[in-house]
Amino acid sequence: MQVSLFPIFVNNSPASSIDSKKSQHPSIPILSIKETIKLNTLVEHQTYAESYKLDIQLPSWLYILRNKECRLNDAFSITYDPQIKTLFQKPKSIYEPIAKVSTKNTTLKGDFEIYDYKGKYIVAYTFSPLLEVPKHTCIHSDYLLAIDNDLKKLPPSIEDHLVNNGVKLILGQTEEDTYYYYRADFAEKDYKKTIDSTKPQLEFVNNTWIDNRLYANLGGIYLSNTKQALMPQWVRVYGSEDSYYDLSTDPNRVFGIALHEMGHAFDYTQPKMFSETKEFKEAYETDIQVLNRDKDNLEKQYGVDTIKAWYANLRNRQETFAELFRAFFDGMKIESKELLFKLTPNSAKCIKDSLTLK
Ligand SMILES: [Zn+2]
Repeated sequence: MQVSLFPIFVNNSPASSIDSKKSQHPSIPILSIKETIKLNTLVEHQTYAESYKLDIQLPSWLYILRNKECRLNDAFSITYDPQIKTLFQKPKSIYEPIAKVSTKNTTLKGDFEIYDYKGKYIVAYTFSPLLEVPKHTCIHSDYLLAIDNDLKKLPPSIEDHLVNNGVKLILGQTEEDTYYYYRADFAEKDYKKTIDSTKPQLEFVNNTWIDNRLYANLGGIYLSNTKQALMPQWVRVYGSEDSYYDLSTDPNRVFGIALHEMGHAFDYTQPKMFSETKEFKEAYETDIQVLNRDKDNLEKQYGVDTIKAWYANLRNRQETFAELFRAFFDGMKIESKELLFKLTPNSAKCIKDSLTLK
């Protein structure tokens, strides 16, 4: 794992110089990150997205590097001054960390642990236990972290519920790596269906929602029979056969999709699907009646496109549940959240009253 990106200092610092704050392992130091360095000017920018300079006494140095293309176990690597070895105690076993790293001062929402693996240091990051990047694909760590940060908004009780029910959020680079890999029938449908770029993705015609998209032209999907949510990093540009939008370049386009998909997972893994309960059906019907009655006024107030998008998001009970779940855990902008609660007051209250979401 060790790579030589940085010059090696000859004068190493004494063992007592590491931050003396201790973790629950009495002898393990907790290091903090002093500086985050974007690696866009270095030669290594082909491989690494970012490096984190750890706060240890100079002249020793230790950096954690964030790789660009990765899976969960190789998203981060570590590079260090060989002299630093005198600063850490030898662990009793390779499974015990020699140091922890707090990520408090960064945009990361997990912590690092450093291990001494047969004389080489390696680093592990605590990703959400819901995440999986299978062997047949790899993704950009910008995409991985945007989704991981979203998932970490879930309270432990909800995360435990999903994990204990075997729910997984599977990430991959392309629709082939995700949708078509797990569902050959999606590929078949997609290849048969043509894209009509002159039509909106979803339209409401004669009281029915019509999906004009290619089947897999989505940011995410939840498969209830296998409890897998699938999310590709590249999504097809609407109305095109062969151009793709790389979601790793725009965290705003990814924001909240994972929480929406986990909303479906949460709905499906209830003893009885929440969106199928009598209470929720009634609440939803009430909201939709009001929405249909007020459509013109809402369009005047919020804009035709905004309201059209919300009608699509609220097109059925399951989608409404997933959007509300996403909103409850801050998977959307505050203005969107306020508007959603305004459009679906009864559905929102029904979820809040009946489900323990905290
Ligand atoms: Zn959905």
